Amino acid sequence: MSRVPTASLLLWDGKTAPCRAAPHPTTAIVEHALALIATDTADLLTAADAARLTACASPPRNRFLLKHGRRQWCSTRCGDRARAARAYARRTSME
Ligand SMILES: [Zn+2]
Repeated sequence: MSRVPTASLLLWDGKTAPCRAAPHPTTAIVEHALALIATDTADLLTAADAARLTACASPPRNRFLLKHGRRQWCSTRCGDRARAARAYARRTSME
């Protein structure tokens, strides 16, 4: 978050009214994108919703979601994979 400036600059050209704009040099696009992600992460970790943050129930459990109801996977893909693995385990244990 600290690698990019967070203060908006005051700009004016003498023809239009002064305005505020955050500097976004094209040479620092990656830094700005990472700073936005870091800021959003910090906001999430310090918000009331932080208590709902939980690891996805599907291995390797390196993704996270905000728990809502009975939801236990970060994506439909993870849920489908877990259900398929469960069905495969049931099928192979019957043979
Ligand atoms: Zn997942």
